[in-house]
Amino acid sequence: MSTYADTRSFLSRLLLFTKTDTEVPADPVAAVKQAAERRAQGQMRMPSYHASDKRPVKLEVVEHGDGRISQYPPPDRWDDWVEYDSKSWPKRVARRYTLVPTICFNCESACGLLAYVDKETYDVRKLEGNPKHPGSRGRNCAKGPATHNQLYDPERILYPLKRVGARGEGKWKRVSWAEALRDIAAKMRASRERRLDGIMYHVGRPGEDHFANRTVQAWGVDGHNSHTNICSANARMGYTAWTGSDRPSPDYAKARTTLLISAHLESGHYFNPHAQRIMESKQRGGRLIVLDPRLSNTAARADVWLPTWPGSEAVVLLAIASYLIQEGRYDHDFVRRWVNWEKTLEMAPQFTAQASEAAREVAAEATARKRREGAWSFADFDRLLKALYAEFTFARAAEEAQVPVERVREAAEAVADAGSRLATHTWRSATMGNRGGWQVSRALYFLNVLTGSVGTEGGTAMNNWNKFVPKAITEPRPFNAWNELHLPHEWPFAMYEMSFLLPHFLEEGRGDVDVYFTRVYNPMWINPDGFMWLKALRDEQKIKLHVALTPTWNESAWFADYVLPMGH
Ligand code: SF4
Repeated sequence: MSTYADTRSFLSRLLLFTKTDTEVPADPVAAVKQAAERRAQGQMRMPSYHASDKRPVKLEVVEHGDGRISQYPPPDRWDDWVEYDSKSWPKRVARRYTLVPTICFNCESACGLLAYVDKETYDVRKLEGNPKHPGSRGRNCAKGPATHNQLYDPERILYPLKRVGARGEGKWKRVSWAEALRDIAAKMRASRERRLDGIMYHVGRPGEDHFANRTVQAWGVDGHNSHTNICSANARMGYTAWTGSDRPSPDYAKARTTLLISAHLESGHYFNPHAQRIMESKQRGGRLIVLDPRLSNTAARADVWLPTWPGSEAVVLLAIASYLIQEGRYDHDFVRRWVNWEKTLEMAPQFTAQASEAAREVAAEATARKRREGAWSFADFDRLLKALYAEFTFARAAEEAQVPVERVREAAEAVADAGSRLATHTWRSATMGNRGGWQVSRALYFLNVLTGSVGTEGGTAMNNWNKFVPKAITEPRPFNAWNELHLPHEWPFAMYEMSFLLPHFLEEGRGDVDVYFTRVYNPMWINPDGFMWLKALRDEQKIKLHVALTPTWNESAWFADYVLPMGH
């Protein structure tokens, strides 16, 4: 599909400078032109690294929170770093690099990396951890340094490609950006003139902070589609119900107890920065509870491992909540201040109609007291909680989850002992894998609310409570359109677009798509019914133009009309 020459050209453009074996052009624009000429003449070569007569200096020693020690190049030497080439050993061949801070995009953790860029050839020799990155602090999983393979991957998409054979036949020709953009834009314009739901931008990895959303809105169409309904939509729903925000940010390092659903120590969301801090907490005596059906590496590190039967997670969490409530071990002051308990009492006669007799009695008594005394009583709210959650016993949780009852109790004790330092996290796993899974994150965050561990040191905040995202000076005008292929009328409360059903809607004849962008997204591979996607992507009546924006080849891009190189 591509050659090293093109990879090198791309990197040269990326870095805005390039280099022959003999000279460094002063003008980066001229350098890019020269690179193109050399590429045309087949003169490009494999990445190479120059020897230097400089001597290496000592690495800086960094002691991590969990007691481990690493060594890094001191930042004041990053501009001109010299070290011996490991591959030349036992010969001592010194190499000179500029260390360029960058970010790993192999998962959403976005850990810091340092690219070792050869001072002479401008080739990237390797990528290692950036000790100054606040999240990863110099440490990465194996995928971080492996970014080097992606840079030089022979399958990397380096320039716009246009389909020339039948769709899926695998015949392509290289076209210029101008030609590709002109053709795509013309088809978008034609669609836009006819309707406001003909263009679809389907996102796998966004790779930006809402800039694409803004652009799609500027097109004036209902065009944004996301993968989230096969990913984190359920977890987001549960968190949003509590906080209006959808992404948790637990302060593991200072937690007294950490409660994880699934395996965030070695996989899961944000796992490397999370794992470091979970281990710090454990080093300080913090306890770790893990709900995971598998004896994962995370479960193996747990103080309390609950190998819960899939789908039973919420009842275990509610049994822990009930324990806090029945034993009076919840944070009354926090709940009184932050929970709408008065409104709950006001509505209690209605929502307890199907509840236990005890709950109905409390609701009636609370209402009578309000009439008598003119104010709601928090003591009545406490009684109502006790009545409502009485059914969630340890025995019930143990039976449904198929775990020993004493282990559920042990977990509940550890949560109660956490005070306001309870760090919790769930993202996909149980929330996404089960019907009604949004109640898992809702029940999980209930424990934070009951212990007052909301936004506290060692507790769980929402990520946007402490994050600055600059707002654009102007916003595109809102559009007046609704795309039934995204959010069909049968699911009025869908948290995100029902994107996994798109090929089925197309099959049913509910509509078609004039211009379909897949953005670092491989629907044929990622959705459970890949053959439905294959059928839809093949059908030029249903998807009239498919533009795949991707850094490398994938199954869906094979069925595109244009393949455009795109950063991850
Ligand atoms: S956890 Fe690993 S893959 Fe994810 S950003 Fe960090 S280094 Fe990259």
